[in-house]
Amino acid sequence: MKIPYFRFTATGKELDYVKEVLESGWLTSSSKAAYLEESFSSYCEADYALAVNSCTSALHLALESLGIKKGSKVLVPSWTFTASAEVIEYLGAEPIFCDVNYGSCSIDAEILAEQIEKHPDLSALVLVHFGGQVAPITSKQGNGILNICRKHGVKIVNDAAHAFPASFENKKIGSFGDITCFSFYANKTITCGEGGMIVTKDSGLYKRMKLMRLHGIDRDVWERFTSKTNQSDYDIVEAGFKYNLSDINAAVALAQFEIAEDLRSKRQKIAETYMEELQSLDSLDLPEINVSHEEHSWHLFNPVLNTLSKISRDELLIKLAENGIGTSIHYKPLHRMTFYKEKYDLKKEDFPESESLWKGCFSLPIFPDLQESELEYIIDTLKEILR
Ligand SMILES: *Cc1c(COP(=O)(O)O)cnc(C)c1O
Repeated sequence: MKIPYFRFTATGKELDYVKEVLESGWLTSSSKAAYLEESFSSYCEADYALAVNSCTSALHLALESLGIKKGSKVLVPSWTFTASAEVIEYLGAEPIFCDVNYGSCSIDAEILAEQIEKHPDLSALVLVHFGGQVAPITSKQGNGILNICRKHGVKIVNDAAHAFPASFENKKIGSFGDITCFSFYANKTITCGEGGMIVTKDSGLYKRMKLMRLHGIDRDVWERFTSKTNQSDYDIVEAGFKYNLSDINAAVALAQFEIAEDLRSKRQKIAETYMEELQSLDSLDLPEINVSHEEHSWHLFNPVLNTLSKISRDELLIKLAENGIGTSIHYKPLHRMTFYKEKYDLKKEDFPESESLWKGCFSLPIFPDLQESELEYIIDTLKEILR
């Protein structure tokens, strides 16, 4: 058997919508992107949405609109993809890297409070909702991430690249924090190859991000002019970026958006089977789930090989590959990456939980059309290797 780590399936209206765009004669951002924005803002219970060409662009626009600049400090977990941190570098600001909780692979209230004490001048937090499980934003004791950030004036940019659709105690992702960024990259929960989305409830931030998304063109002025006689006049009020999403991409993303819940529930079933079947393996630590299964987007299924294992993680992945099973690793933590390690003199000892995760973590296939026979084969193979 040959099972890839990820396989894309288009079970919605992807081809129909792309055909509509091609036949309309207008290929860049227009009605499909606008409709996708409306769909997201209403789903997320946020007021505004902006379609962009990647989640990286979304994160860049988000931090820029919050005034992050040279001298600003932004907290980011080491346990993430480089995009979460590189956007802080784009703006000349300083990323402050922190450890995560071993079980959830996420920042929690305790880690956040400790970092704020160390860095009282923190401006913002890039909150990564790892694997599709929303981080502990609220708690019964009233000291969740949202409260702590509010109390200390720390802005929250949600990196929800893994987390659509997802929620936390009925609060939809996108409805909390200052700005939320989604990814439609090729192997994310919904995709159009390359793309992303921003949602926010703040009209000022929305206006700034909209301006910077397209070259700093003053749209209001532009629209005022184009509606009259002078069709080609517009003003540039900033050196902006080129981050808009084309209607071709938006068409695919829209079709995927419509089936997102169906795709999510298929991944949930796969995750539940993994958890039930793999719990008997003492050498595997299964992901700690702190939300209801229906609120998890299940982007990743990432067990951790613990110290009881007789073989290393790398040996395991080689054996799985020899048996035709594709896997991935999320992540090699950023404090181990040359650029960040050297620039900020990062030490492994400051990231003990990420270090334990790094030694043993791996991600198993969890794409919606993974067949039952394939799932069974993966589980049997793992059991055979690890018993
Ligand atoms: C994929 C990913 C991104 C970047 O998404 P793009 O759409 O590829 O720019 C950002 N953060 C995390 C955690 C990701 O996994």
